[in-house]
Amino acid sequence: MAEIISGTALSATIRSELKCETDKLKAQGIVPGLAVVLVGEDPASKVYVRNKTKACEEIGFYHEQYNLPATITEHEILDLVDTLNHSDKIHGILIQAPLPKGLDFKNIINHISPEKDVDAFHPVNVGKITIGDFDFLPCTPAGVMELIHTTGISVEGKNCVVVGRSNIVGKPQAMLLLKENGTVTICHSKTPDLAQFTKNADILVAAAGKAGLIRGDMIKPGSIVIDVGMNRNEEGKLVGDVDFASAEPVAGFITPVPGGVGPMTITMLMKNTLRSARNHGKNKNL
Ligand code: NAD
Repeated sequence: MAEIISGTALSATIRSELKCETDKLKAQGIVPGLAVVLVGEDPASKVYVRNKTKACEEIGFYHEQYNLPATITEHEILDLVDTLNHSDKIHGILIQAPLPKGLDFKNIINHISPEKDVDAFHPVNVGKITIGDFDFLPCTPAGVMELIHTTGISVEGKNCVVVGRSNIVGKPQAMLLLKENGTVTICHSKTPDLAQFTKNADILVAAAGKAGLIRGDMIKPGSIVIDVGMNRNEEGKLVGDVDFASAEPVAGFITPVPGGVGPMTITMLMKNTLRSARNHGKNKNL
């Protein structure tokens, strides 16, 4: 039976450390500030934004939330981003994805000052991650690394398989595993015979967005299995990409869904915002 890695518990520990560090920074006159921009009425996005502002309150950050109508023009959003880029109270800017049709997410992200890009989506930050120079760690992959570290098993020299090659999860995940000297394979929708790769993985990160894609017979016995997937099954229940029932008896360590990677993503966003606030203080000699 696998040991369950709880993202909920780890997240609570890290958040209480972040709260202590925030209190110290506040004593020096710097209050970390996050701006969250929500455009339109997507119900899942509303939940994510609510959880982000709740985390800000829990840790003691200043926060601003902008609820903008889906009819807003890209120009108006860019004006808001400019204002936030120049605000001394704001150290992190987050544009909640997905945006309504007609708005170019990439173009809006490109306007965020890289120093305030706490999601690490700006091309400057993506480039820095690629050359191993990390200002901000991308939130979900960074959360995955923290979960792997709790096992006490080193990534160095391990066969690491990432299933999924998106810009926000798969690709940066591969970079972070590589930085810790893993031997990394990226699988994707055009990979024939996925099991051939996953069966050899000492560390498997599933981020395909396909419920039950990874079954127990595709997993190496004793391996670390991290499930990033968040899917709704036929009954509307939240499930991962890993078929937990068949995988758990085979894996050495496994994350549940919910309660695995999900809570860690927001915690890493808070960590990046704190880091940005600290950098801001250093630049101002505070
Ligand atoms: P995406 O749709 O952008 O990318 C999915 C990737 O999976 C693609 O690269 C595709 O090639 C690959 N893929 C699809 N079907 C496959 C198959 N049958 N075999 C192998 N590879 C396949 O998705 P994303 O934004 O990277 O998110 C992936 C999943 O992670 C989703 O379920 C998403 O909801 C979840 N997610 C969770 C968190 C979190 O905080 N827990 C954060 C981000 C994304």
